[in-house]
Amino acid sequence: MIDVSLLGTGGTLPLPERFLASALLRFGGHLILIDCGEGTQVSLRKLGWGIKDIDHVLLTHFHADHVAGLPGLLLTIGNSGRGPGELLTIAGPRGVQRVVEQLRVIAPRLPYPVRYQELTGNPAEGFSIDGLQVRACLGEHDAPCLAYRFDLPRAPEFQPDRARALGLPVTFWKLLQRGEIIEHEGRTVRPEEVLGPPRPGLALAYITDSRPTRALVEFATDVDLLICEATYGDPADQPKAIENKHMTFAETAALAAAARARQLWLTHFSPALPNPTYFRKQAEAVYPGVVVGTDHLTTMLKFVD
Ligand SMILES: [Zn+2]
Ligand SMILES: [Zn+2]
Repeated sequence: MIDVSLLGTGGTLPLPERFLASALLRFGGHLILIDCGEGTQVSLRKLGWGIKDIDHVLLTHFHADHVAGLPGLLLTIGNSGRGPGELLTIAGPRGVQRVVEQLRVIAPRLPYPVRYQELTGNPAEGFSIDGLQVRACLGEHDAPCLAYRFDLPRAPEFQPDRARALGLPVTFWKLLQRGEIIEHEGRTVRPEEVLGPPRPGLALAYITDSRPTRALVEFATDVDLLICEATYGDPADQPKAIENKHMTFAETAALAAAARARQLWLTHFSPALPNPTYFRKQAEAVYPGVVVGTDHLTTMLKFVD
């Protein structure tokens, strides 16, 4: 299962009641932070999932509202007890190492090692965090900006009755469960002989600071939860959305509907939107059940039986 929380839902600048757009995922013993604008560490503290265990920071792009909080957070992670044997990975678009090292002029010494991972935004590439597959896709913004997708595959169910019928000792069961082919008494046994049908896994996508694009629809197809920017609520602000490379509520809803996302949370609201829920109906008309995100909105994505 994957726990998800919105640390902030604001774009451009933090407001007294709305932190900058950022999200935290909790999976196994890992905390995975997406973006880190000013104030993110205050919001992290309010959430209470811990700070020391953040082992991945995924940056969408290098605009200040998404990265300016990073030096302070990196120091706080160190002050929370992260030590020399505990690697922290910072991933982001091309140039991530250069940008973060420049930010780190004010946080040069950290008690734990940092590794940088540059992502091209080609969804065919990716990496894994203990089985949680992470991929990125370039959006359309006025700086290279990555959307992230997380997939947790689920292994088919092991069927002990079939293993017993084949006369397989229990010592082989785990190997077959892991997908390995085994030899027993001169016979080859393949995993599919003792495993049930494929089972759906979990999928989550986070899209911010972009125009809606065909590539993003494909990237977010069939996710259980799509967290997506919706900077402008009023349909009259559509020209601004186009000019500033963001989305309106209706555009975000259309993207989610086209991607067949099972849930949609809106985030990254313009500071000119004091009450984003006022415009909820603009999205609801296109994507019924849409949730207008609020800071610390939290859910747990679980496998369904
Ligand atoms: Zn932004
Ligand atoms: Zn931006």
